[in-house]
Amino acid sequence: MQRQARQDTRPELALRRLLHRRGLRYRLHRKVVPGSRRSVDIVFPKAKVAVAVYGCYWHACPVHGTQPRTNSSWWQTKFVDNRRRDEAAADELAGAGWELVVVWEHEDVSSAADRVESAVRRRLLVRR
Ligand SMILES: [Zn+2]
Repeated sequence: MQRQARQDTRPELALRRLLHRRGLRYRLHRKVVPGSRRSVDIVFPKAKVAVAVYGCYWHACPVHGTQPRTNSSWWQTKFVDNRRRDEAAADELAGAGWELVVVWEHEDVSSAADRVESAVRRRLLVRR
């Protein structure tokens, strides 16, 4: 079975490449909330914007949330746990003053980059 928190997945790499091309500079796989062990995929420290790239399968995306047929109650629990963990991570970031932008694996990469870019630029303007 795949490790759950995979790093450098293909959709993440595509998004990073595009953000970089747009002149945005970020850090990767950082722990941003003091005392927390969770790390964030893509981090904009000055803007305090965190980007999480979610795989459709593990994070049970609303569009492609396929349910495995075998052992389905085990999977059900697993998906609910994952969902809870995602929500806890989002709350933790919000509590520390960060904005979380969630990008789904299935999302068009340029519209995902638009969302990230506008969050970063908006937050930088506010902080100036
Ligand atoms: Zn999806």
